[in-house]
Amino acid sequence: MSKTAVHRVFNFSAGPAVLPLPVLEEAQRDLVALPGVGMSVLEISHRSKTFEEILARTEADVRALASIPSNYKVLFLQGGASLQFSMVPLNLMIEGQPADYVITGGWSQKALKEAKRVGPVNIAGSTESENFARIPRQDELTLDPNAAYVHITTNNTLFGTEWKAEPEVGSVPLVADTSSDMFSRPIDVSKYGLIYAGAQKNLGPSGVTLVIIREDLLARSSKSLHTMLNYAVHAENGSMYNTPPCFGIYLMGLVMKWALAQGGLDAVAARNAHKAGKLYAEIDLSGFYVGTADKESRSMMNVTFRLPSEELEKKFVKEATAAGLDGLKGHRSVGGIRASLYNAFPEEGVDALVEFMQAFEAKNG
Ligand SMILES: *Cc1c(COP(=O)(O)O)cnc(C)c1O
Repeated sequence: MSKTAVHRVFNFSAGPAVLPLPVLEEAQRDLVALPGVGMSVLEISHRSKTFEEILARTEADVRALASIPSNYKVLFLQGGASLQFSMVPLNLMIEGQPADYVITGGWSQKALKEAKRVGPVNIAGSTESENFARIPRQDELTLDPNAAYVHITTNNTLFGTEWKAEPEVGSVPLVADTSSDMFSRPIDVSKYGLIYAGAQKNLGPSGVTLVIIREDLLARSSKSLHTMLNYAVHAENGSMYNTPPCFGIYLMGLVMKWALAQGGLDAVAARNAHKAGKLYAEIDLSGFYVGTADKESRSMMNVTFRLPSEELEKKFVKEATAAGLDGLKGHRSVGGIRASLYNAFPEEGVDALVEFMQAFEAKNG
């Protein structure tokens, strides 16, 4: 059998997104038969010893990577981050207490929409009037000390902004959608009541959702909730109430192992800041490219910018794709260009984009 080198382009997709090549290679190598098992991870029972070990190792590596305190449960669920928009209010709202939502982009708006179906909600802050170009300052937040929880979106995938530090929320549990920046930098889990993330940006493939929940909050899940929507049920059953997303958990385990081998989250964050810094430097150097996010709120994961016209943006995306730079078109609700630089995105891809941008500006500027 001949083995030809596989051609991979630079994948700037916002999600599902680039995965570490060694992870894909290991999964490919072991797909037909896990070493010592003789069956694929796709074929084994979720109740088998082999899968139990995969699940336990993945959880242990998630815990190690983020130094998750022992009073937090780690759950592997399905339904994406979008189902968490419903599960969070269904489980955590308390009769007679509102929930605070800080609105920083399209995903927080979607989370808010589902919460409103469940109970009273305050908009505790929003930068919509500025087209979500920044994260609100602490002094702009109107937090209710009686709120059941405060919900934030740590990284705004569409608008290219990111919270640089958690808001001060006192003793109210902080709930965060971290889908697009989970494990891109150190995270102090003890500051949160609940953290959730769809896997398909930084953690693995779509189909598995990571939920980290402080144990005392499990007491809020009412027995009258539908079983599959109940955090307490998933926690009691170790994410195995029903068949879990076995392949997604397996692959997330490989990504965690890779991230630990990178030197953990401090090293991952340093590399991410270096990569994004190169691209922002090019944007700031040029009058041709204009960043859409305010500098103090800039995301290290999704770099968003505009060109002088929509025609030029179309041309830019088309020529970039032809040059092996894929997935640069901005989200349909925002337009412009978006370069997503998740953990697994290689620095050479950033260098290639910067070089392409300089050549494009020289021709069209
Ligand atoms: C991608 C994304 C989502 C949606 O995730 P699904 O898994 O598709 O439901 C939600 N929130 C944020 C911040 C995202 O980036």
